[in-house]
Amino acid sequence: MAYLITSACKGEKAAECVEVCPVDAIRGDDEMYYIDPDTCIDCGACEPVCPVDAIYEEDFVPEEEQEYIEINANFFQD
Ligand code: SF4
Repeated sequence: MAYLITSACKGEKAAECVEVCPVDAIRGDDEMYYIDPDTCIDCGACEPVCPVDAIYEEDFVPEEEQEYIEINANFFQD
């Protein structure tokens, strides 16, 4: 289980999540930020600070954002 970042982050990249994450699990590219599911400790600190509500716990990701579960994980596989 982990938290992850969805499409609302695209072009936003507010970065409040990066500042509060205690384990440095959040990295980004030019487009958006992503959460490393192997590093995330499910503390939940990032979710409430996101100004665009882009962050969800894995079990609560909306249907239309489900693809981001894989997109977040894939970002850390290289
Ligand atoms: Fe970091 Fe906690 Fe958010 Fe996981 S839930 S990405 S550990 S702030």
